[in-house]
Amino acid sequence: MILKNKIQKPIDNDIHLKYRCPKCGQDHWLSYKEASTKNFKTVCYCGNVFKVKRIAGFKLKFHKPEIKTKTNTTDVSDTVQKSISEELLTKAITTLTNYGFTKSEASDIIKKSYEKNQVDDLTILVKQTLESLRN
Ligand SMILES: [Zn+2]
Repeated sequence: MILKNKIQKPIDNDIHLKYRCPKCGQDHWLSYKEASTKNFKTVCYCGNVFKVKRIAGFKLKFHKPEIKTKTNTTDVSDTVQKSISEELLTKAITTLTNYGFTKSEASDIIKKSYEKNQVDDLTILVKQTLESLRN
């Protein structure tokens, strides 16, 4: 059985990094594996041997799925989305950074949570944001 509708994620990747010989300017492509090897040295055609800074990892990021707000576009006027106030957002971000989120992460999830359920109370907003992460 083949599931046709499932969105596929990559099963493997092939990352290469370009380095330049400091002596002659020749470019060298290293594989991710080479670049993440401790004390990896590249020997250039000019005879120069140079070390490369060890790579710790790459993060693969996917686009967030687009949120379809309304299928019926004829009556947009009566449902104007209220956006979160700067003050509330700043306070909520500060609270979430205490939980170990970065500012941009916090800002992202708060706005998303606010879009779903617009509450203007800081405590409730933080609570519903954290709860939304569990799903
Ligand atoms: Zn060279």
